[in-house]
Amino acid sequence: MTKKGDFGDDVVTKLATATKQLQCDYLVVGAGTAGMSFVDTILTENSTATVVLVDRFSRPGGHWTKAYPFVKLHQYSCSYGVNSRCLGKNLDGKGNEIYDINDRATGSEVVEYYQEVCNTFEASGRVKCFFGAEYEFDEETSTHTIVVTATNRVDVKCGKVVTVKSGITVPSMREPLIPVHESVNFVPVNDIPSSVKSGRYQKYIVFGNGKTGVDAITNLLLDQRIDPSQITWVISRDVWYFLRDSMEDYFKSLIFFTKMTSAKSVKEGFLTYEADEVMVRLDPKRPYPEVCKAAIIDSNDLVAIRSIQNVVRMGRAMSIEPNKIVLNSGSIEFSSHDTLLIDCMVESDGVYGYTFDESFTIFEPERINLGPLITLFNPSLSSAIIAFLECAIDENDDEAKNGCCFFLRGKEFLDPSPVNLLGSVYMDSKTNDALMKVKGGMKFFMKSRTNEFAPMHHKRFYRQFLWTMYGPKQLHKFPKALAKKVESKGYEDIDHCFGVETLGAKTRERQAKKSIGAAARWTCFRRSRVETATSLS
Ligand SMILES: Cc1cc2nc3c(=O)[nH]c(=O)nc-3n(C[C@H](O)[C@H](O)[C@H](O)COP(=O)(O)OP(=O)(O)OC[C@H]3O[C@@H](n4cnc5c(N)ncnc54)[C@H](O)[C@@H]3O)c2cc1C
Repeated sequence: MTKKGDFGDDVVTKLATATKQLQCDYLVVGAGTAGMSFVDTILTENSTATVVLVDRFSRPGGHWTKAYPFVKLHQYSCSYGVNSRCLGKNLDGKGNEIYDINDRATGSEVVEYYQEVCNTFEASGRVKCFFGAEYEFDEETSTHTIVVTATNRVDVKCGKVVTVKSGITVPSMREPLIPVHESVNFVPVNDIPSSVKSGRYQKYIVFGNGKTGVDAITNLLLDQRIDPSQITWVISRDVWYFLRDSMEDYFKSLIFFTKMTSAKSVKEGFLTYEADEVMVRLDPKRPYPEVCKAAIIDSNDLVAIRSIQNVVRMGRAMSIEPNKIVLNSGSIEFSSHDTLLIDCMVESDGVYGYTFDESFTIFEPERINLGPLITLFNPSLSSAIIAFLECAIDENDDEAKNGCCFFLRGKEFLDPSPVNLLGSVYMDSKTNDALMKVKGGMKFFMKSRTNEFAPMHHKRFYRQFLWTMYGPKQLHKFPKALAKKVESKGYEDIDHCFGVETLGAKTRERQAKKSIGAAARWTCFRRSRVETATSLS
């Protein structure tokens, strides 16, 4: 797509200061995990590409910049972040991160990390960043604008605009999701440490039992030393959690996947995982939970959350009045003056704002839509692969690029149920399968540090790795086996292929609508880009 030597660093600067107009190959809106991984791989896979990166937050890191002070990655650091820079601390002699479930960065470490990555981007001279700035698009004139301040606007002429469509909102970024009376002390999870320190509260009510809710409960119990009897936990639906301890031995933890292919139904699979202590739930005596958002907890967390006796299961909270919480099927009383109510609710029943309609596509003419997880719960690797495909496949062949990106879309498949968790694994398998057929795909995948499976993270166990890959277990056959089982309707509780069966038609329909005029604009952009660069250099 780019012509070698089109842009030098001074070109970008001259354009910015002199005319308040910029030109670049990719305008990336969003400096969270998705945007940062995309930029990182574009820079390594395309040696001349230029990027303008914009975010409304004051620094890179996306929602991590708004996270609660005690948040940590719930997965290991070695597969999070960008491919070109380590995040983990447990390194081997060659500086490679070792797979270690306990090596998990804190929220502030993640934010510092992304700042360093951003500094490296800018130092390359190929990336210009705008923080605390809003992106706007004028559909009538097709103008992309970065609004730095009311009087400082920069128009950007770009080959492609890359936006992040995942829409993640953490409690500190929004108003309460339900009406709350002003006399009630209802705070985002971020405020737990300062509120406890104030000494004003005798009782605590936590709303939500996803990762954030569990973090709130364990922080109150283990860090703030609050007695379990002082805590009430409002749970709208019971959920499954992964048990981190079972992932300690990476190769053993892969048995999780092989068991999935041998189970008769997803339900049978989940009950087997529970028996094997791979998955857990708050109360094993209660009915089988129909929700799995893939939060990961460890055995200490499990003991802690099970110590809470005041668990309220009356559906979702609907409103909070002075001294009364109204829920879907009942209400509970509390004393406003000495009770802290802690907001860990999620906007909808989706997973962290990952909602994409059934015809959603990643590659469109002049546009790339990031956000969908095309690999299993890995936003970093997903965006890196998308950037790789952008560079590896013919620039105009969006159909081929989209053909390598499998992810759950449509309301039915985004509901965080155990069946849809299997759907995520199925999508991951399909993406891997397609990626291996792209020239350089296998090499890219195996060398990506954000791929937890990459040999660089398992050198200590290299012989075991080879054995697992090529020995009798032949785990590399797993993706195909699982896909075959889904496609042959081999699970008693799945009668579809998660929308993959109807994907082609919907995608083509959407692509056709969007591509009108795009090819002409693209040719025009390329011509003007070469002329501008030549005249300024
Ligand atoms: C508490 C919590 C913990 C999590 N832990 C993990 C974990 O351990 N592992 C894991 O894999 N995932 C985890 N996740 C999932 C998490 O969502 C992803 O890891 C990832 O951070 C999402 O990044 P993103 O870039 O898609 O979105 P975001 O972080 O939301 O970034 C999007 C960015 O786009 C910017 N933006 C959007 N529109 C505009 C505009 N018009 N103009 C300017 N800027 C704009 C926003 O300001 C934002 O910075 C966690 C999520 C939460 C909520």
